[in-house]
Amino acid sequence: MERLRNYIDGVLVAPLGGAYIDNYNPATGNVYSQIPDSDERDVELAYEAAARAFPAWSRTAKEERSALLMRIADLIDAHHEMLSRAESTDNGKPIQLARTVDIPRAAANFRFYATGILHLSSEANSMEETAINYTLNEPAGVAGCISPWNLPLYLFTWKIAPALAAGCTVVAKPSEITPMTAFLLSELCIAAGLPKGVLNIVHGYGHRVGAAITAHPSIPVISFTGGTKTGAGIARIAAPLFKKLSLELGGKNPNIIFADCDFEQMLKMTMHSSFSNQGEICLCGSRIFIERPLYEKFKQAFVEKAKQLKAGDPADDKTRLGAIVSKQHKEKILSYIALAKDEGGTVLCGGNQVQLNGECAGGWFIEPTVIEGLVFDCRTNQEEIFGPVVTLTPFDTEEEVLGYANSTQYGLAGIIWTTNLNRAHRVAQRLQSGIIWVNCWLLRDLRTPFGGMKQSGMGREGGFEALRFFMEAKNVCIKLS
Ligand code: NDP
Repeated sequence: MERLRNYIDGVLVAPLGGAYIDNYNPATGNVYSQIPDSDERDVELAYEAAARAFPAWSRTAKEERSALLMRIADLIDAHHEMLSRAESTDNGKPIQLARTVDIPRAAANFRFYATGILHLSSEANSMEETAINYTLNEPAGVAGCISPWNLPLYLFTWKIAPALAAGCTVVAKPSEITPMTAFLLSELCIAAGLPKGVLNIVHGYGHRVGAAITAHPSIPVISFTGGTKTGAGIARIAAPLFKKLSLELGGKNPNIIFADCDFEQMLKMTMHSSFSNQGEICLCGSRIFIERPLYEKFKQAFVEKAKQLKAGDPADDKTRLGAIVSKQHKEKILSYIALAKDEGGTVLCGGNQVQLNGECAGGWFIEPTVIEGLVFDCRTNQEEIFGPVVTLTPFDTEEEVLGYANSTQYGLAGIIWTTNLNRAHRVAQRLQSGIIWVNCWLLRDLRTPFGGMKQSGMGREGGFEALRFFMEAKNVCIKLS
């Protein structure tokens, strides 16, 4: 059975403790590889390698850093099919999604920041005849990057690319549930000729490896994407150490559908925003609010489509709903469906685990599930489920739906469907979400700020903001005599 290795100081190495964790294929329920069960000693080795590499990397001309990142992007493209298959096997996502979203976007992340760093400029502020100020942006040091399992390579590279472009060296930890493409990336970095120690990838549990990165006294910046509870724990550790933190956390996003929307376009996209990646995308619109005159028509059409969406083998080109990432997560989703029933909800379709035949007989699959009849402030409508489960709620006025939409502790994303331009702007302004899509979903321009309000996070990724996050601004004031 394949054993993954850590990537430390330019080479692939076994964990110092010699222990491994089983890695499951969610579509079969079988262990198909093992990953290092690393501990703080491996993190320390990774940190030391990163610290040794930092002086040279931070002084490497940005054109040279850019060229190296471009080479990594090219290698991701060259291995597109291999990486797509690996992502699909490791995570359970349909191969079609890995091919069209995850892997192309991982390459795009590297390209975007490889070119972004060439365009980053800094300010000069003149105090007329008294003085002139200019601002230097200097790489912050060794950066810690911790990422989740839902979009494994995509979100891993979304952190690593700006950190490396900015001149930081990195100690990174992918989710222990989906380590494979991060491991394959380490092989591509070696092939690209990335200098040793510039990027170090340590595999293992969050409470061990993630916690050691977070608590390391000489890692001054932490970029984290994951659950709100984990993020709060990281903030507690990082705050007294005065670390710079970027936290991209959970969501419970509203999808607000007004009766004047383009119905067919909305229906098609709402299927995606509800069930893409089995609903395991932080940006999915899991609370669907429908203006009352459209409610019955929408409900009928949407439930019909949801019934047609069948879970299948993620490796099959035609599959559009794959496996749930882990047995534990599958149980969590099913427990929320049970809770929804307890809270008075009616399951309009789905609600059950799916039993496939053949190779996938032992896999973890759940039907697309649509629930109605719940009040907006029940637990099902307030807590993140992160699965193929949505609720339907009718509304009568803008004021009412804004109250529902803004009622959760989260504020990551919001979706609005209307052809009334004034209303689109009005509702977008009042939604408490960091990312709002009008008549679309998941349309991403990498220059735009990405992140959430309230308990969905702190700081923004994307564009120059991500580069600046990994840098310290230093102002130089020169008195003119
Ligand atoms: P977790 O918070 O469980 O884990 C995220 C990462 O942190 C994993 O690598 C995990 O390792 C690690 N980790 C766990 N405990 C600690 C710790 N004590 N210290 C440091 N690191 C730790 O999230 P999930 O992986 O379950 O991902 C799902 C969550 O991510 C959802 O809430 C989702 O909304 C959110 N998310 C947010 C996004 C955004 O942009 N706002 C985008 C995508 C997802 P391990 O896997 O070993 O536990």
